[in-house]
Amino acid sequence: MDRYEAEIAVIGAGVVGLAIALRLAQEGRSVIVIDPAEPGSGASYGNAGTIADYAVMPVGSPAVLRNLPSLLLNRNSPLAIRQAAIASLAPWLLRFAVQSLPAATLRNADAIARLTADSCAMWEELAVEIGGTALLQRRGALYVYASASAFRAAESDMEFRREKGVTVDLVDAAGVAALEPGLPPRAGGAFFPNAVSMSDPGRMVGLLAEAAFAAGVRHVRAQADGFSRGAAKITVTGPRLQVSVRRVVIAAGAHSRDLARAAGDRVPLDTERGYHLEWDMPVAPVTRPVCPTERGFYLCPMAGRLRVAGTVELGGLTSPPSPHRLKRLEDGARALFPDLPAPDRTWMGFRPSMPDSVPVIGPSRAGPDVYHAYGHGHIGLTLAPVTARIIADMIAGRKPDRDVSAALPSRF
Ligand SMILES: Cc1cc2nc3c(=O)[nH]c(=O)nc-3n(C[C@H](O)[C@H](O)[C@H](O)COP(=O)(O)OP(=O)(O)OC[C@H]3O[C@@H](n4cnc5c(N)ncnc54)[C@H](O)[C@@H]3O)c2cc1C
Repeated sequence: MDRYEAEIAVIGAGVVGLAIALRLAQEGRSVIVIDPAEPGSGASYGNAGTIADYAVMPVGSPAVLRNLPSLLLNRNSPLAIRQAAIASLAPWLLRFAVQSLPAATLRNADAIARLTADSCAMWEELAVEIGGTALLQRRGALYVYASASAFRAAESDMEFRREKGVTVDLVDAAGVAALEPGLPPRAGGAFFPNAVSMSDPGRMVGLLAEAAFAAGVRHVRAQADGFSRGAAKITVTGPRLQVSVRRVVIAAGAHSRDLARAAGDRVPLDTERGYHLEWDMPVAPVTRPVCPTERGFYLCPMAGRLRVAGTVELGGLTSPPSPHRLKRLEDGARALFPDLPAPDRTWMGFRPSMPDSVPVIGPSRAGPDVYHAYGHGHIGLTLAPVTARIIADMIAGRKPDRDVSAALPSRF
């Protein structure tokens, strides 16, 4: 049996767990991160690298709800479901449908906007602390529309985002061509000039891990699967593992649901599987993250390669990657850049997804010896430093700097 002691155990060494661990260590606390895997090798590795302060729209909305049956049943849609997973996903889908009603959508967008508002500034600060400033690209992000009708339909979406504090400029076909001359002609675009992105999210999370370990955080390579609560201590247990601490933070991304239940909280966490393909090339054909909206993926210029990342597949944590989803991404990339050869590598990751698109951040209902920090869905990279600040404030007994009521585990 391997036994450890510290003040705080963080379960999960993804971008969220590592940002929390670093922050807590900077506040003088002794911290152990428990993860059987290499730090940053989960969803935090293969994402699109956008610090998406503009992504205030929840995944579920009245428009998505209207099209949900056709979206889910069409194997080629950007939001698909594995047939074998329909029964096990039914409770999540039901909650997702309820959260897609108009009033819930507005409430969820407000909750997300409160979290994302300063996410770029917080990443700028964190990048300085961990030596990652050179990995930040400050060229904004661009949505592009294939048809004039899709471009017109985007107007109300962008107006809604402006109301939530997002800076966005609608640009016509010439404007898109001026921003991204390497793209084939598009009907128009929505340009988010203040957005920041990463040229290598895996490397950035690696720097975050190095900074956390340099600040005294210890990494225990083990799987956590339960807790035993004592009077003044809580012990994280796992196969051959006992870590005795005063507080635990569950930050195991899409794998957090069973841990939450073991701590006394039932949360409707599931996963939206996402994919990426990469082509090695010295200069990518786009200069900032570009999302062809009808395809549901991003074209991301990354260090020495083009990464095409995205799409949503509801399909659980255990089934293997779907060759069909990868093929769809590849076809989508080649529709824009016909000369692309076969991709150099492929990847699948698990977004930790809540039906309301709002993460779970805050103390367990069973007591403040356990904190939750997962469920960030499409914006976990974006929200890691914000989540770390909120969790550190809560643990220190300080009032968080924003209203986080919508994210509390007690909402279920
Ligand atoms: C294709 C794709 C594109 C994306 N693009 C973006 C984007 O552009 N911008 C953005 O903000 N977000 C994006 N995301 C979402 C983002 O990547 C995730 O929300 C984020 O990485 C979640 O971080 P995490 O630390 O919670 O989880 P993870 O990075 O998955 O880390 C969880 C860790 O917990 C560990 N773990 C699991 N179970 C246990 C256990 N029982 N005991 C101990 N450890 C355990 C795992 O090994 C893993 O290391 C994207 C996601 C995908 C899939």
